[in-house]
Amino acid sequence: TQYVYRFGGGVSDGGRGDRNLLGGKGANLAEMASIGLPVPPGFTISTEFCAVYYDEGRAFPKGLRDEVATGIAHIEGVTGKTFGDPADPLLVSVRSGARASMPGMMDTVLNLGLNDETVQGLAATSGDARFAWDSYRRFIQMYSDVVLELDHRGFEDALDIAKEDRGYFLDTDLTAEDLQALVAEYKGLVEAQWGKPFPQDVHDQLWGAVGAVFGSWQSERAKVYRRLNDIPASWGTAVNVQAMVFGNMGDTSATGVAFTRDPAKGDRAYYGEFLINAQGEDVVAGIRTPQYLTKASREAAGAKPASMEEAMPVVFTELAKVFDLLENHYRDMQDIEFTVQQGKLWMLQTRSGKRTAKAALKIAVDMAEEGLITREEAVARVDPAALDQLLHPTLDPAARRDVLTKGLPASPGAASGAAVFDSDTAEKRAAAGESVILIRVETSPEDIHGMHAARGILTARGGMTSHAAVVARGMGRPCVSGAGTISIDAKAGIMRVAGREVREGDIVTIDGSTGEVMMGAVPTVQPELAGDFGTLMVWADGVRRLKVRANAETPLDAKVAREFGAEGIGLCRTEHMFFDAARITAVRQMILAEDEAGRRVALEKLLPEQRADFIQLFEVMAGLPVTIRLLDPPLHEFLPHEEAEFAEVASAAGVDIDVLKRRAAELHEFNPMLGHRGCRLGVTYPEIYEMQARAIFEAAIAVAEKSGSAPIPEVMIPLVATRRELELMKAVVDKAAQAVFADKGATIEYLVGTMIELPRAALMAGEIAEVGAFFSFGTNDLTQTTLGVSRDDAARFLTTYVERGIYARDPFVSLDIEGVGQLIEMAAERGRATRPDIKLGICGEHGGDPASIAFCEKIGLDYVSASPYRVPIARLAAAQAAL
Ligand code: ADP
Ligand code: MG
Ligand code: MG
Repeated sequence: TQYVYRFGGGVSDGGRGDRNLLGGKGANLAEMASIGLPVPPGFTISTEFCAVYYDEGRAFPKGLRDEVATGIAHIEGVTGKTFGDPADPLLVSVRSGARASMPGMMDTVLNLGLNDETVQGLAATSGDARFAWDSYRRFIQMYSDVVLELDHRGFEDALDIAKEDRGYFLDTDLTAEDLQALVAEYKGLVEAQWGKPFPQDVHDQLWGAVGAVFGSWQSERAKVYRRLNDIPASWGTAVNVQAMVFGNMGDTSATGVAFTRDPAKGDRAYYGEFLINAQGEDVVAGIRTPQYLTKASREAAGAKPASMEEAMPVVFTELAKVFDLLENHYRDMQDIEFTVQQGKLWMLQTRSGKRTAKAALKIAVDMAEEGLITREEAVARVDPAALDQLLHPTLDPAARRDVLTKGLPASPGAASGAAVFDSDTAEKRAAAGESVILIRVETSPEDIHGMHAARGILTARGGMTSHAAVVARGMGRPCVSGAGTISIDAKAGIMRVAGREVREGDIVTIDGSTGEVMMGAVPTVQPELAGDFGTLMVWADGVRRLKVRANAETPLDAKVAREFGAEGIGLCRTEHMFFDAARITAVRQMILAEDEAGRRVALEKLLPEQRADFIQLFEVMAGLPVTIRLLDPPLHEFLPHEEAEFAEVASAAGVDIDVLKRRAAELHEFNPMLGHRGCRLGVTYPEIYEMQARAIFEAAIAVAEKSGSAPIPEVMIPLVATRRELELMKAVVDKAAQAVFADKGATIEYLVGTMIELPRAALMAGEIAEVGAFFSFGTNDLTQTTLGVSRDDAARFLTTYVERGIYARDPFVSLDIEGVGQLIEMAAERGRATRPDIKLGICGEHGGDPASIAFCEKIGLDYVSASPYRVPIARLAAAQAAL
């Protein structure tokens, strides 16, 4: 097998199609080189070698050494420099690069190939001793940190002391002699900590760095990230070795990062940051405050230091051309890293840029309208799950804000929560159900778990492209970065700002769209659904086959659902209507009644209430199907608990309180979820379902008469296991319908069907379909009953189950397609065999989960039903599933 692929100098062994083999970075470097962009030459060791590396006991076989020698020779040929040559040394960077960009992997090592001899050669050929020694001290520091994994604080302290001793402020104030002295000090630090001198052999340096990259694939950080992002360990990482270009060669040199469009808002404007006379990560590390790329963005921010457009107009124009070219070539917004060496532009990376949901929408819609991509592609480009960010509330503009300070609006959305100052605490408090805001000086890959657990992130340092900003945008967490006026004492758990103190646990609010940081919790408002969102939704609806309904009971939820585009209600849980304070007493009276007569008295009280509920719901859903599930939960859920509650029921029912208590005790169940619930209630107490059916039909006729547009009630019987159960319950419903129709002198269309939520029902679906006109797969219970896992008790072990790979994802969040999916598919087939026009849908959490929706599309269900806020997600996911 070939493991080494070259790029640059007119050669490209790979290209953009080789992402799996070369990693994203390597594939795109090869691609950029092949379309004629200025890319420093280099080579990629493929991801396939990663597995070999571990198989070989973390060693390098001879074959690879030979291939790497060829790769180095390629770079030497193009640059005319020789690796390790004391007179004119070739320097390289060693860069990791997996298929998906992955924090947690080894950091890049720059300036590799410098030693006590080659540094002299670099000084001589560049005519700049300061630059040479600056590069050498950077190299020792990076290599010690990243490859040798020595404690980096000693190096930082030495640098600070060097500056302090000489009264300097900036790193750039240090002279060649200062830096040379610093190098000597650094080498001493290495030897003291590592027990060996800093490696002087350039090949040892190279193999050390390459080994560190492959080794970092199994680092704890990388493993955590893979787990959170569903990245298989088998993918492996690639290693890129590339000739150095230098942004630290004086004022005509610079380094920068850019996006071809605004990654936060999506506007079509170049967007980025750069630093003059700097190298690599200086821009994102927050060492100096970076400058803006364009004049417009500098002015918009009211910043003074010249933008790149102003400071380096010629190179900027060239760079802008590259941006356009790359965007057209990749047909997507690009995130770009570049370096300018003495006025010459070099491209070091390009990839599809991470963006907020808002930007993703705008960019997809704009690009389709610009003709760069098709509408279908636009629909396919937006991650349905990311829409969640847009569908949630933002800060109420009218609300009072106690603003503490303002930072950069790094990732949009607003969040309130308890202030915490380290990631472990964030995780702990969040796990205990608290909303937290993670506050850090700056974040690093070690904070991933804390950022994940937090509702929002606030940092004191770092720009719009800092670690915190990039990761927060990816995770959809609001983030304010670079709030320079705050000072954080993480040990003491205090943040000081504007003469005030915020202690751990105090509630703060951040607005990632404006950068504001506020004391206390600030109220929020609903999101705006027109504009790009509306446009994309229309395009999505154009390609989608599955209908999307909502799970909703209240008129308010139903309205939200319709605004979000729901085409009906897929699940109205009538028990939710029973908990209302005004009627709970009547509900309790019904449950605790000794006999049918007693129950009927209470049901008479509930009938008008229930009818009023349905009238409101039908009005919102006029003309659309509304699936109403008759009473489902175990009765004991409604039982009184307190003395006063018993007393209230006793007086309403005119029964002795002790009788009631005895009756309540009798209702106790050992396993209520498999107990007296669902249609078993209707079978034992048909008058309950009869009352509910009457309420439904009376309400439907009332709304039809009033508005002229009748709803289509679909009466759903829960927890059916046998055909006979459904037959009995259908008879109750039909009888109620006939009675109401006769009474009102009007009829309406309706259906009676069932939930499929027990394995037996799925097995017997053919027979059940003889009675039921529709099936709704109640996947919450079906998962519970098929897996034999109690949903309410699963939290204790399910995380471990997912971690150990027993289930790929939480089966209550994303459908267990292999197992539960089989039952659904089989039931759908058997149901259709008996009744070809049977209506098939799914309700339950899975109705809003994109992967589960794709499965529903595959097996040809008619609709999915999701919670109101997830309706747009479902619409988009359904469209993508149909593409
Ligand atoms: P990451 O994956 O963390 O972005 P990179 O491998 O892209 O790491 O390296 C980070 C930065 O280091 C780059 O943005 C670039 O500024 C600098 N860099 C990497 N390779 C080179 C090189 N060959 N010449 C100059 N700078 C480089
Ligand atoms: Mg990079
Ligand atoms: Mg159920």
